[in-house]
Amino acid sequence: MSAQGCQSAPVLRERGQREVFCGLTSIVWLHRKMQDAFFLVVGSRTCAHLLQSAAGVMIFAEPRFGTAILEETDLAGLADAQDELDREVARLLSRRTDIRQLFLVGSCPSEVIKLDLEKAAERLNAQHGPRTRVINFSGSGIETTFTQGEDACLAAMVPALAATEKRQLLVAGALPDAVQDQMLALLSGMGIEDVALLPAARAEDAPAIGPGTVVALAQPFLGDTLAALERRGARHLPAPFPFGEQGTTAWLAAIAAEFGVDDAVFERVTAAPRARARRAVAQAAAPLADRSVFFFPDSQLEIPLARFLTVECGMQAVEIGTPFLHRQVMGPDLAAIAPGPTLSEGQDVDRQLDRARAARPDLSVCGLGLANPLEAEGLTTKWAIELVFTPVHFYEQAGDLAGLFARPLRRRDALRLEGAT
Ligand code: SF4
Repeated sequence: MSAQGCQSAPVLRERGQREVFCGLTSIVWLHRKMQDAFFLVVGSRTCAHLLQSAAGVMIFAEPRFGTAILEETDLAGLADAQDELDREVARLLSRRTDIRQLFLVGSCPSEVIKLDLEKAAERLNAQHGPRTRVINFSGSGIETTFTQGEDACLAAMVPALAATEKRQLLVAGALPDAVQDQMLALLSGMGIEDVALLPAARAEDAPAIGPGTVVALAQPFLGDTLAALERRGARHLPAPFPFGEQGTTAWLAAIAAEFGVDDAVFERVTAAPRARARRAVAQAAAPLADRSVFFFPDSQLEIPLARFLTVECGMQAVEIGTPFLHRQVMGPDLAAIAPGPTLSEGQDVDRQLDRARAARPDLSVCGLGLANPLEAEGLTTKWAIELVFTPVHFYEQAGDLAGLFARPLRRRDALRLEGAT
């Protein structure tokens, strides 16, 4: 492998038709993470249906998201739409006194009719702050992909965060609680306590930011959030993402080096979980060895996952497609991937399908819309969206992560065997 890996490999840039979910999808995991937040989508009935079907049963529980429906008549009267929004928010906040953060989430319809949600958030903040902070971001599917919803949400929170000069580690990116606890235990074992988290579980625990803040990204799709944090004086700590044993170790090692953790302490804290993760990956990844993988652009996790699958699981990447290639964020993972695969950014779906058909990869990682047609053509697929809804970060999940990719190949192998007997 060259020292640079794929870091300076040419990138095929495509700007054609795309097949991805919109940013509203991220509300499904963000509302679980921020316990005193409410997400009010300003959109159409289509947006409401998406949220209800994506979030499933949650809508019948005590929901923390809803939709202010834009009717056709709103297209003619924007002033009425703003009044209606004010009324809707007042009704909601009088009924739900537990809400401390209210996100006004823009959608395709609100963007098309140019409903100014920034102004609305300012106006509503004056009415309902400081008890409830009102923040706006866009989850629209126009020119975006579903993980950008989280990026837009977190980036919108940054300007309102308090200032601090304190030297501290900030981990950005929503993680499932159990996974976050594992991460905090590893950091605490290395003597790094008091870790700031974005997003925090409650508004009162929101981190303060300043020039002493060092940012480790837990999710690779947070380019705008990182830029917003840098504007507040924070500094990015480049590292591979914590997927698999090696990715997790490299991520922790970057933090350990930054905070002067002793080598012996690092070794003592990581040795046992590393060994467990290595064993788990070796076991789960057996069906992946020497198989080829093709990534369609979808979750923005593609580059770190390609590193995991090629370096730790023995797969060969044919094409690594990603919606956006952010070199500052992806650099360390790209450097670890051996040259060879096509790197592509954006999508022209028909051309990319032609490349996949020509390559006949053993596994195609793609969105739901492409999975069925590809399966019908005899190609084995993995839904990228599952990777965002399943705990996959850090040591204890490394085996499960390999298993997620191995399962469709196992199933395909079993079907072939059945067909042969
Ligand atoms: S935001 Fe756009 S893409 Fe998403 S559900 Fe609403 S209309 Fe559809």
